[in-house]
Amino acid sequence: MYDYLIVGSGLFGATFARQATDAGRRVLVIDRRPHIAGNVYTEDVEGIHVHRYGAHIFHTNDKSVWTYVNRFADFNRFTNAPVANYKGELYSLPFNMYTFNKMWGVVTPEEARAKIDAQRREITGEPGNLEEQAISLVGRDIYEKLIKGYTEKQWGRDCRDLPAFIIRRLPVRLTFDNNYFNALYQGIPIGGYTKLVENLLDGIEVRLNCDYLEDKENLDALAQKVVYTGPIDAYFGCRLGALEYRSVRFETELLDIPNFQGNAAVNYTDRETPWTRIIEHKWFEFGKDAEGNDLPKTVISREYSSEWKPGDEPYYPVNDEKNGALYAEYKKLADAEANVIFGGRLGEYRYYDMDQTIAAALALSAREL
Ligand code: UDP
Repeated sequence: MYDYLIVGSGLFGATFARQATDAGRRVLVIDRRPHIAGNVYTEDVEGIHVHRYGAHIFHTNDKSVWTYVNRFADFNRFTNAPVANYKGELYSLPFNMYTFNKMWGVVTPEEARAKIDAQRREITGEPGNLEEQAISLVGRDIYEKLIKGYTEKQWGRDCRDLPAFIIRRLPVRLTFDNNYFNALYQGIPIGGYTKLVENLLDGIEVRLNCDYLEDKENLDALAQKVVYTGPIDAYFGCRLGALEYRSVRFETELLDIPNFQGNAAVNYTDRETPWTRIIEHKWFEFGKDAEGNDLPKTVISREYSSEWKPGDEPYYPVNDEKNGALYAEYKKLADAEANVIFGGRLGEYRYYDMDQTIAAALALSAREL
């Protein structure tokens, strides 16, 4: 008999598994996929760690989380600085003095401030949706060229129907600083995320290709408690209706050239280009292999965003009002479910970053163990 059956070997499940094991509990981790690590899974292709389920750049302001992950991996000095491609015009991201200079020719922070202030005046009062929030932060020109098309592709919804908080994920700076994140600590785990999760799960029993919901009764009988990190609505057979998710499809290619786009991430911010961004994976590790040699080939992934439907992988919760209200109903069912704990991006239907996922798993461990 196990103390915990942990459903899902992503960052939430693996962190809780580590903590429970270190606290002397017996745990079994299961995953329906043929590999561990959930959506942070990386796979080796010609010496390049390919982020199979989309780009993951670890960043945090939480020193305890940073110290924790550094027990399981060394991190390189990668800093995310995506480039936006709007119909062939290139802009620096996030929105900073390089962006404002390219957009308006302004040179000083004061000139940039004046441009933004003049444009944001069209928004009066508290921004009620993503469009109003974006214009109020950076003005209409940047909204139109760098935000509107990208966001509508990414979410499949009008910017006026999306919550303001999504765009507040991005910094706006009046300095020349292309660092996408406002985080004290940032980097990519050397050796890949799969290795990081392998280290978290060191010595822990894991069963792959094991679908919890298909065999729930038998699996439940193996443990006192369940930690479930899958979609919360699926757990309840979608009996209150399905929550909406965004899914992502990747077209990945190995190219026999050393450098495709000169950067890890290029966002295509116009509405017409069908993909949202192209990731060139080798640049997360400076184009080098484990021995420090330049890699002769490159792997790129075009990322296409789509509405989730059964059979797809869910990636992003759609945190609008309608889904928020439905989630609240599922949360009541979850709270009433004896001996089952729901966690992670899908279990809590929250747009968690990796560090928040680990922090949530550590907080659960502190309460539970
Ligand atoms: N966003 C945008 N233009 C960009 C990049 C991001 O408008 O070039 C907006 C978009 O609405 C997106 C949000 O900012 O959903 C958050 O972006 P982030 O990079 O945090 O998304 P993730 O990497 O989690 O997909």
